[in-house]
Amino acid sequence: MTKTLIIANWKCNPVSVVEAKNLFKSADGVVRNAKNVEVVICSPFVYLSELKNGPKDQGSGVALGAQDCFWEQKGAYTGEVSPVMLKNLGCKYVIVGHSERRKYFNETNESVNKKIKAAFEAGLKPIFCVGEKHDEKEIIKEVLEKQLFEGLAGVSASKISDLIIAYEPVWAISSEEGEYCSPEYAFSANLIIKKFLFKEYDKTVADKARIIYGGSVDGKDAGLYIKEGKLAGVLVGKASLNAMEFGKIIKSMDAISS
Ligand code: PEP
Repeated sequence: MTKTLIIANWKCNPVSVVEAKNLFKSADGVVRNAKNVEVVICSPFVYLSELKNGPKDQGSGVALGAQDCFWEQKGAYTGEVSPVMLKNLGCKYVIVGHSERRKYFNETNESVNKKIKAAFEAGLKPIFCVGEKHDEKEIIKEVLEKQLFEGLAGVSASKISDLIIAYEPVWAISSEEGEYCSPEYAFSANLIIKKFLFKEYDKTVADKARIIYGGSVDGKDAGLYIKEGKLAGVLVGKASLNAMEFGKIIKSMDAISS
């Protein structure tokens, strides 16, 4: 059985390795008693090796992910971190195309596409973020299709089973408007994505694709997005920085997924 995905995006937090280790340890403790969820923590680059060398070595159930990567594996690219470096460090996942990177760091569909391909090449599973802005709600289908079409250009059908698509309406993310996105609205976006995959690939790809929801998810509502198996999990930003709240999310999703 495919486990429900719970992905934590710590963003540019916390500010010390001690806090990072404590947060990781706390999630790890909850995950050890869970059977039906796969928990991924996407930490800032600087903490990844510490988290790997800590609880991970003692058989941690938490997988590691990064929040971005470069599109080349090595070379003269000052300041960049490559997918192969992340893989060698023990990362399994990498977030690509997050709306904050699109907004503040000029990430484009073209750079996202290069990063997705480089991540696959290094053996990482990309978590590809797509989502419309507030003033794009009326044209959500066009927006999502363009992001998907350009972001997945040249990505073969065989790779899609290793891809996570995170539907994150920009207006629902806590650092933006943080507006409530109902499960029904997220399910309709899920359908747009599935239809796109069906059209561009085939039915098997569309049926198997793992599509998750992200945007102000907390312990109260996390489970609503995965009901009837409509979405494959959640991406959690702010609430993943609160050990108690994140623990609540893990426990409730585990219970619902059993
Ligand atoms: C995110 O930034 O990916 C996210 C889902 O954030 P939040 O949960 O804080 O809205």
